[in-house]
Amino acid sequence: MAHRDGCKENPAHARIAGPLAFAYVAVMALRPILIHPDPRLKKKADPITAVTDDLRVLAADMLETMYDAPGIGLAAPQIGVSKRIIVMDCVKEDDAPPRPLVLLNPEVTWTSEDTNTYEEGCLSIPDQFADVVRPTQAEVTWMDLDGNQVSEKFDGLWATCVQHEIDHLDGKLFIDYLGPLKRQMITRKMQKLKREKARG
Ligand code: ZN
Repeated sequence: MAHRDGCKENPAHARIAGPLAFAYVAVMALRPILIHPDPRLKKKADPITAVTDDLRVLAADMLETMYDAPGIGLAAPQIGVSKRIIVMDCVKEDDAPPRPLVLLNPEVTWTSEDTNTYEEGCLSIPDQFADVVRPTQAEVTWMDLDGNQVSEKFDGLWATCVQHEIDHLDGKLFIDYLGPLKRQMITRKMQKLKREKARG
């Protein structure tokens, strides 16, 4: 999967406007990403009821963390926050402008009948990739950081990514689409990785 390296000019900074912009940038931080298996990745996340300053900081942190990884999508449960918020930017071309998206309470309202197979990966399952079949197009509605209701029909990599991230909000990982043997193999590799990390 293509990754953008957004470390130099971080588009997350550009998204934050208003009088508190300086404060946000100052407190913005990378958040540690949870590695599977972790019960927090299996939980259904709670809906967002209001756009608060804390939520704006969370969104900025998530974008920063995603670009730094680097990844093309991140869901709040992946940083241990059980809220229905995802961020993504699937722009592949190096010379194209970034498109950081923040989706609050995203819901898939329609999917195409035709499907697409993508080799998916996940920041919570590092260095493991597998083919997953999903609808080629997905229409999604969500609330943006200004409280507006937004709807868009996603295609290609964007469609795959948005479905993958929304799955995270329902405690579902891409390996849940695989057969049990492959899933167990990946899970054992992650358990080993976590043991090694814990030992330092
Ligand atoms: Zn993921």
